[in-house]
Amino acid sequence: MGHEAKHPIIIGLTGNIGSGKSTVAALLRELGYPVLDADLLAERAREAKKPELKRLFPEAFRGEELDRRALARVVFSDPEKLKALEAVVHPEVRRLLVEELSRLRAPLVFVEIPLLFEKGWEGRLHGTLLVAAPLEERVRRVVARSGLSREEVLARERAQMPEEEKRKRATWVLENTGSLEALREKVLALLGEIRARFGLS
Ligand code: ADP
Repeated sequence: MGHEAKHPIIIGLTGNIGSGKSTVAALLRELGYPVLDADLLAERAREAKKPELKRLFPEAFRGEELDRRALARVVFSDPEKLKALEAVVHPEVRRLLVEELSRLRAPLVFVEIPLLFEKGWEGRLHGTLLVAAPLEERVRRVVARSGLSREEVLARERAQMPEEEKRKRATWVLENTGSLEALREKVLALLGEIRARFGLS
């Protein structure tokens, strides 16, 4: 292992709804690579920062319980409040991330971040991996999986940065247009490329 595990290579894994990013995360884990979940870290960060959040956003609390939907309503109607929320939560997410990384001691770690480009995390990562597929295929997959309607999926898609824009920003794009077996082969090939790029044996 050539790379110092104390400073792991961190690759952000992202993709729009239905692209297959959770599927790629599962494949990576199966292959022995740690994949951290940014949504889970954010949830832990909000939990750790509850007293501060309660002071800032009392209207988002039911007693001691943080109501996430109420919090979302508060911050999405007011950019200043969203900034205030992120100023509390993001440093704690980063702290948790550093803690997890030192616990893992792996030379190459992935972090699944659904809103990676929307939130501008790319500057803090060694590279970004976008899982991509045509919109119609993504809609079909999500409708089949979740029972959401086509319109509901499209509404979620519109709340994200267009995939075309993300393609321009990503270090690597994984085209998830074939079978799951084909996806697995592509993931293996890409891992070879990533390891070579960073001098990992
Ligand atoms: P995301 O996490 O990006 O929203 P998922 O990984 O959950 O997407 O994939 C959406 C759905 O499509 C899941 O049910 C998954 O099993 C399925 N899926 C993903 N990739 C493929 C593929 N190449 N072939 C068939 N089904 C797929």
